[in-house]
This record gives sequence, C-alpha cells and structure tokens, in this order.
Amino acid sequence: MIEWSETHLAFRDMVRRFIEAEIKPKLEAIEHEGEPPYDVLRKMTKSFGLGELAIAELRHSLEREKRGPSPELKPRGPSPEAAERVALQAVLVTELCRYSLGIITAWGVSVGLTAGAIMSRGTPAQKERFVPDLLSMQKIGAWAITEPDSGSDAFGSMKSSARRDGDHYILNGSKTFITNGPYADTIIFICKLDDGRAPAERRVVSFILDRDMPGLTASKPLRKMGLHGSPTGQLFLDDVRVPRDRLVGETEEAPASSGAKDTFTAERTGVAAMALGIIEECQTLSLDYSQRRVQFGRPISQFQLIQLKLANMEVARMNVQNLVFRQIELAAAGRRIDIAEASACKLYSAQVAMQCALEAVQLFGGNGYMAEYRVEQLCRDAKVLQIYAGTDEIQVSQIARSLLARRAIS
Ligand SMILES: Cc1cc2nc3c(=O)[nH]c(=O)nc-3n(C[C@H](O)[C@H](O)[C@H](O)COP(=O)(O)OP(=O)(O)OC[C@H]3O[C@@H](n4cnc5c(N)ncnc54)[C@H](O)[C@@H]3O)c2cc1C
Repeated sequence: MIEWSETHLAFRDMVRRFIEAEIKPKLEAIEHEGEPPYDVLRKMTKSFGLGELAIAELRHSLEREKRGPSPELKPRGPSPEAAERVALQAVLVTELCRYSLGIITAWGVSVGLTAGAIMSRGTPAQKERFVPDLLSMQKIGAWAITEPDSGSDAFGSMKSSARRDGDHYILNGSKTFITNGPYADTIIFICKLDDGRAPAERRVVSFILDRDMPGLTASKPLRKMGLHGSPTGQLFLDDVRVPRDRLVGETEEAPASSGAKDTFTAERTGVAAMALGIIEECQTLSLDYSQRRVQFGRPISQFQLIQLKLANMEVARMNVQNLVFRQIELAAAGRRIDIAEASACKLYSAQVAMQCALEAVQLFGGNGYMAEYRVEQLCRDAKVLQIYAGTDEIQVSQIARSLLARRAIS
C-alpha cells in the first residue's frame, strides 16, 4: 500500500465533517472544563455504525465458536476485509487525534482493551453478557493492571490479589492511572491468585467487575499534564466478593499474563495511527503559521532553520504513515504483528510525535506556548505516548530481548 484509497479518503471526509459538527463545539468543555468525552463517543459510535458492525462480528464469531472447530473452517489467511477494517479504523483514529488524543484513548481503552480482553479470553457466556454494551458504548470499560508500586514491572511487583472463598473469590488491591477509571461501568481487574504459593509463583488472573460492587470505589479524575479528554483515576478494592463467572475464561489455568501481553501488543500497535494524527496536525498548523508570521520583513517559512523543522515533520509523517500502511498490509496477508514489532512501532512513532510537537511549539514562538494555539495541547498530549502502554525504555528492552532471543535460536 502506498497511499490511501478513494474509499479511505471519502471516509476521512465523513470523519472530518463529524469532527466539525460534533467534536469541535465540545472541545473546550472536554479539554479544559473536565467534561467527560462519553456523549461524543456514543454519538461517534452510532453515526459510523461502529457498534452495530462490531456486534454483528461478535455474533458471527460466537456462532463459529458454538459450532466448534470444523473441517470447513479455513485457517487464518489473507483477508482484504480485515485490512479494510484496520485501514478505516486508522483513518478514524488519525483524524480524531488531530484534535484530541484523550477522546480516542478513552474510546480505545473501552472498546479495544476492555471488550478486547473479554473477546480474546472470555467464555462465550461472558462475551454475550458483557461485550455488546461495551461495543455500543452503552457501558464504559476500564482495563486495570497498573498499581502504585507496580508499573513497568507489572507482574513482578503486583500486589492485588484474589482469594478463593467457596464458589466465590475475594478481591483486594488498588490500581492507579486507570483510563476511564472514574466513570467505568465494566472493569477488567488483573491480580494474582493467592493460593498459598510464594508470591513470585502465583498465577495472574483477571476478573470482570461492575462499578457498583460492594467494596469497589473509584477516585475522581486525577489532574494531569495533558490527555484531558480521557479521565484517568484510581480504583480501590476492599474485600470485593465475586462469583466464579466473573473470572475471565472461568479458569485459573489460562494464564492471564499472556492475555495482558496480547493487550499490550494491541495498544502498542495502535499508537502509530495516534502519532500520525498528532504529526499531521503539527505539520498543517506549522505550515500555515510559518507562511503567515512575518519577521525581519519576510514570512518565517523562508528561514532555513524553520524549513528544517518543516522537513523533519515531513520525514516523520512519511515514516509513521508507512508504519500504518504496513499494519494494513499485515492484516491483508492474514498475519499478526508480534509484540517486538508492536514495541518498535510504538517507540518510533511516540518519539517522533513528541519531537514534532516540540518543534511546532518552537516554530510558533510565544504563541506556541499559549493554549489558544493548539500546538500547546498537541505537545502536552504527545508526551503520554512515550509513557502509557509501556514506557520508551520498556519498548527498548522488549525489542532488544526479542532480537537477542532470535540470535540465540539461530
Ligand atoms: C494518562 C495515562 C493513562 C494510563 N492508563 C492506564 C490504564 O488504562 N490501565 C493501566 O493499567 N495503566 C495505565 N497507565 C499506566 C501506564 O501504563 C504506566 O504509567 C506505565 O506503564 C509506566 O509505569 P509507572 O508509571 O509505574 O513508571 P515506572 O515503572 O515507575 O517507571 C519510572 C521510570 O523508570 C523507567 N524504568 C522502569 N523499569 C525500567 C527498566 N527495566 N529499564 C529501564 N528503565 C526502566 C521507566 O521507563 C520510567 O522512565 C496509564 C498511564 C498514564 C500516564
């Protein structure tokens, strides 16, 4: 793939019209006055038929699951349909991230991570029960792994626990920095099974919780540097008693740590399209401003040091767009992206988005530091791409680990 197709561009225009009509008028309230983004997201889900499409797909896959493995079912192979889904989603994400990385983060965590975790590891009954409301955004989802003392070392230092109590489990622990935490209706709570083994040997399990369960409390949204369109909070569990049907997959044997790794892979892959939105918007705003702003008797676009910034943004835009195109091609070929490639993709995209946003602020001079000129928000937002879903440093170690392991095998 070397460029967006006519269909993609037509869809992009639809998204742009939606942003003009529905997002821009609410942006001030969402970005600066603490209004949650969920009404806008419900409208987006409805307007583009995203909920209906995803629910139809869910029903289809549940039917297939009920029939069991069948000789007529072909193994995963080339799929132009899957590629088209990836492409249209990338267009949507890119366009929205030009205005609010937060709004798309809130959506991605609810629909991609929370529903995705149940879809990939849940029982058919759990999928039927919890996933449709998440896909239609009738319910808001949160995915909770990070704890006050366990961030990058998510599994090693995890203290949250589940203890068996007859047919039930008793859950305890606290989670922090949880996207949608303050408003989530459905929460994936990841913890360790306290079955008498030494802490380092305990299995990781995950549970599906409702916000109103006794013993579960959510904090108010935390105040943060950027990403204001995405409420982030803490969750506290004090002897929350849940039946076994809340255990994802209803088995303690399927390791939830590999489910969480699937989730890391998905969210890291998604960062490229988000970064692309930030880079494109920084470039558009910078081109515009540099041609309008006159200093020393000429537009600043005529100064070579300003041109260097514009050229660097173009190189970043081309590279990150090519990463997105590769993801579409991989989907077309029926191939999954592995965690090392997802990490490389995230590391690069996040770093160049941050560089472009900083350069855009610089190019705007004093105006770049003012909230009125949107590069200020893009810059605050871009920083989080280097932190959530695993920091830059963690991506580096993931990539190196995988390279070294490959070398050891060959
Ligand atoms: C806005 C936002 C939203 C988030 N949403 C969610 C969510 O929905 N769900 C969720 O579970 N979590 C969420 N997180 C948490 C996020 O994933 C963690 O913040 C991130 O993984 C880093 O963990 P930490 O903050 O504890 O930093 P730490 O792990 O304490 O890291 C501190 C510093 O040490 C470095 N470091 C750590 N280990 C190593 C190492 N081995 N080698 C080199 N350097 C290292 C890090 O890179 C970092 O620079 C969110 C975070 C933010 C900021």
